[in-house]
Order: sequence, then C-alpha cells, then structure tokens
Amino acid sequence: MERYLREVLTIGKTVFDKVRATTALVVGCGALGSSIAEALARLGIGKLVVIDADVVEEANLSTAHMFGVEDLGRPKVDACKERLRSVNPDVEVVAYHDVIDPSNVEKYVGFADVVFDGLDSLYARLLLNDACVKLGKPLFYAGVSGEYITVKAVVPGAMSCLSCFLNYDGDDRNACDVVGTTVLAPTVAASLQVQLFLNYLRGRVKDELILVELDDLRLTRVELSRNPKCRSCGLREFPYLRGEIRPGSCEIRRIEGRTEALQITTGTSYVKICYPEGCFERRRY
Ligand SMILES: [Zn+2]
Repeated sequence: MERYLREVLTIGKTVFDKVRATTALVVGCGALGSSIAEALARLGIGKLVVIDADVVEEANLSTAHMFGVEDLGRPKVDACKERLRSVNPDVEVVAYHDVIDPSNVEKYVGFADVVFDGLDSLYARLLLNDACVKLGKPLFYAGVSGEYITVKAVVPGAMSCLSCFLNYDGDDRNACDVVGTTVLAPTVAASLQVQLFLNYLRGRVKDELILVELDDLRLTRVELSRNPKCRSCGLREFPYLRGEIRPGSCEIRRIEGRTEALQITTGTSYVKICYPEGCFERRRY
C-alpha cells in the first residue's frame, strides 16, 4: 500500500478502490497511448489492455517517452507491456498486435469498463466512438496536432459523443500527412484524459471540449450538447461499425498472411509488418 500512499491521500480510498477494480482498454500505444497506459499503471488500474500493430521507429523516440533505442524495430505493444510491468507489477497487462476495424472493435470494447483513445486517425477514433456509444462504455478522447490539444470525455447517454461534432468524409489527405508534435503535447493530453477518468469516477465530468494551446499556455473549455441528428448517439445508425464509412488508404490496415515470427518488410512507400496473428501494412513516413 506504500506505493499508493500519496495517491490515496489525494483521490481518497473510495476512488482509489474504483481505479483498482477497473479494466481499461487503451487503443494505440504510440506517444499518446503509451503515456496514457503508463499513467494508468502508476495509478494502479486493475487491468490494462493495449492494442497496436506498429513497430517502434526512430521518429517515435522524440515524442514517446516510453521507448528507448533498444526498442527500435520492436512491436510497440511489446515494448509497452515490458515497461508497464516494470512500472507496476501489480497491474495485469494484456497486449494485442492488432488494429481496430468494424469486425473486432466491439469485442475489444465489450471487455473493458472504460476506453482510452490513443489513436492518430480520425476514422479509427470515430469507429471506436461508435462501438463505445453502442455498448455504453465511457470513452476518453484526445486529439494532438503540433502544440494544440483537444480532450473530451464521452459518457454515452449522458453527453455528446465524438460524432456529434467531428466528421470524417473519407478524404484521407490529412491522414497521409505526418503530423508534427513534441513529447510535451501527447504527455499533457494523456494526463488530461486520465484526469477526466478520475473525475468520471468522482461523478464530476461535464459535456465539454477542453482545448489546450501549449505555446500560449491557454486552456479553454467549450460547453457541448448532444446533436439529435448525430448518426452515432442520436440516430444510433453507427455508420463506422456497419462499414458504411471506410478507412482511407493511409490508415494502417490488416492484410492477408501471417508469419511464424515478427517480420518487417520495408518497400519504397509501404511498410509491411507480419506477426503469427496476422499481417498489417501502412504507408511509410
Ligand atoms: Zn453523438
């Protein structure tokens, strides 16, 4: 208990016990997802499930504080799992080499009590939002672009969801761009997402979007309300889950095949990553 002494002094035993009893799903274990996962592990979350199919590259070392040079070429979730174990062996960590798609997202979300968005793709986060709204699971979202951060809690039924105000029209030009940032923005965003989770456990989350402009050190809170015509929480049509809206060509995606051991094939414009569980392909940056 000595490990959690300062935390319990801050959040109280009741909230701490709720943290210990929670299973959290973190989708994406890059700069944002790994910061979320590390904070949850240090808080003593009951169980942590992390999903990512990508491998650590040199460009990740400047933005994700979980990875070191020894992790280059390793699957991100393997490096995350190893680090999380050393951060807090009390926490059960389950790692999947996978990406979410309409065929599997409900299975992953269904096992979790709460869900964290550690993604860098608008399509994938709206798919995740569909699954969370349909299954009634709280979702903690963050978007990071440069030094600009947006964060929001989505408690289905009680407040607006991401589809109420975000739109993905299949135009993937932005998804193909490399979005710049520093190690600071994902770390701040992850801290805010996990703080929203603690506030949710205290029954203190509001329907609002929190915007942070780090270069100006400005934090703005924008009040939101549900859009009755929202195709996710309003009309409950869930177009992403139904496959009506498809991912763009720059998204990491599952392709045919599998290998006995990890195999990375680098082409001129694409990287193919194969595991015993299956193969994935993404555009090369
Ligand atoms: Zn909505």
